[in-house]
Amino acid sequence: MSEVMIVTGGSRGIGAATARLAGERGYAVCVNYRSDTSAAAAVVADIEKAGGRALAVAGDMSSEQDVVNLFETSDAQLGPLTVLVNNAGIVDVQSRVEDYTLERLQRMFAVNITGAFLCVREAVRRMSTKRGGAGGAIVNVSSVAARLGGPNEYVDYAASKGAMDSMTIGLSKEVAAEGIRVNAVRPGLIYTDIHASGGEPGRVDRLKDGVPMQRGGSAQEVARVILWLASDEASYTTGSLVECSGGR
Ligand code: NAP
Repeated sequence: MSEVMIVTGGSRGIGAATARLAGERGYAVCVNYRSDTSAAAAVVADIEKAGGRALAVAGDMSSEQDVVNLFETSDAQLGPLTVLVNNAGIVDVQSRVEDYTLERLQRMFAVNITGAFLCVREAVRRMSTKRGGAGGAIVNVSSVAARLGGPNEYVDYAASKGAMDSMTIGLSKEVAAEGIRVNAVRPGLIYTDIHASGGEPGRVDRLKDGVPMQRGGSAQEVARVILWLASDEASYTTGSLVECSGGR
C-alpha cells in the first residue's frame, strides 16, 4: 500500500508543488484547500494523469470541525496517514503593529498556529506507535520571517511562524520515541500568490537583490526540501528547522 500524505493548503503555491511532487514519488495525496475548488481539482487531475492517487478536500484549517473532517476523509478514502505537511498559511496586508486590529490578529493566529496545532494533534493521534499507529513524519511550513521578524510588513505573521518553530521543536521531542519525526522548512522569498494577498504582488522582485543568491525561489525548490524531510532519507532528522532561502 502506498504512503499517504495530507497537504494542507495544497491548491496553490508551495502546497500545490508539494502535492504534485508527492504524487510523482508515489504518495497517495490528500489535497486540502479552503476556497479555490478549481485549483485543487487541477492539482488532483495532474496527479491522476501521471498515474497517481489523489483527493481534494475542502476545509478551513482554523476550524476544528473542518480539520477533523479532513483527516477522517483521508483515512476513509486513502488509508492510514504517513505524512502531514502543515502548509496552509496566510499573510495580511502590510502594516505596522500600531495599526493592527484584534480581528486581524485573531485570524492570523487562528490559521497559522491554532490550525497547525489542530492538524498535528490529528496526525499524532493516528501515527503514534504508543496509540497503535505505524509512525510517520510531520513537516511544518514555517518561514525565515520567524527569525527576521517582518518589521513594517507583518510582525504578526513572523510571530505565528516563530510559534510554529517552537511547536516543531517541542513536539519533535514529545513524539520522537513514538516513531514520528517532526521538522520544519523555513522558506525565504518564494514566487507564489501569497505576496499579492499581502498587497504587493511584486514583493519578491523588489527584495531579491538582497538575497545572497540574488534571486527568489520557486515553489518546487521548497517542495523538494519538504519531500526530503518527509522521506526515510531524513530518518535521523527531527526537530530541525531547515532553511530554504538562498542564504537570506
Ligand atoms: P499561497 O500561494 O497564498 O497559497 C496558500 C494556500 O493555502 C492555498 O492553497 C490556500 O487555499 C490555502 N489556505 C489559505 N488559508 C487556508 C485555510 N484557512 N485553510 C486551508 N487552506 C488555506 O501561499 P504559499 O506562498 O504557497 O504559502 C504556503 C506556506 O508557505 C504558508 O504557510 C506560508 O506562510 C509559507 N511561506 C511562504 C513564503 C513565500 O514567499 N511564498 C515564504 C515563507 C513561508 P485557497 O486558495 O483555496 O484559499
